[in-house]
Amino acid sequence: MNKRTFLKVIAGTVALPAAALGYRSIPAGSQPQSAEAMPVSPTSGKAVVKIELTDAEWKTRLTPVQYKVLRKSGTEPAFSSVLNDEKREGLFACAGCDLPLFKSASKFDSGTGWPSFFEAIPERVATSTDYKLIFPRTEYHCARCGGHQGHVFKDGPKPTGLRYCNNGVALKFQAA
Ligand SMILES: [Zn+2]
Repeated sequence: MNKRTFLKVIAGTVALPAAALGYRSIPAGSQPQSAEAMPVSPTSGKAVVKIELTDAEWKTRLTPVQYKVLRKSGTEPAFSSVLNDEKREGLFACAGCDLPLFKSASKFDSGTGWPSFFEAIPERVATSTDYKLIFPRTEYHCARCGGHQGHVFKDGPKPTGLRYCNNGVALKFQAA
């Protein structure tokens, strides 16, 4: 059975291109799946069409570590991601569905050990309140696939004052 059979596109008949569905781990140095093939512009603020996959389908699409973070709201160890030191120009996309979430221009060195951004691309992330620790935190996730990315705090740099503290394993870098 084709994997597409499992994909449910909510609210509409928009079919996702193969590039959006064909996620597999990409060898270092190779070009990521083309963002141009996606149904939305890589960096426009347009709302995205949500996708929903079964838990079993996510397990086949993601590595165990990605699954734990994206689908179970896990947190990777600090300083464990190569994206922490990624300074090239480009886009940081959701590792679950390839949707670009952050521009490299909004990345900054927070010193926390997690890739950090002061601004997300408009309408690409959605938030919820997380009570896993004693104090409530604002969790954010990919607006398209719902994959957990990290938490956003109000101690970031100008101009937004926000700090999106992201799991590197939940992102993939797309060089410009
Ligand atoms: Zn996603």
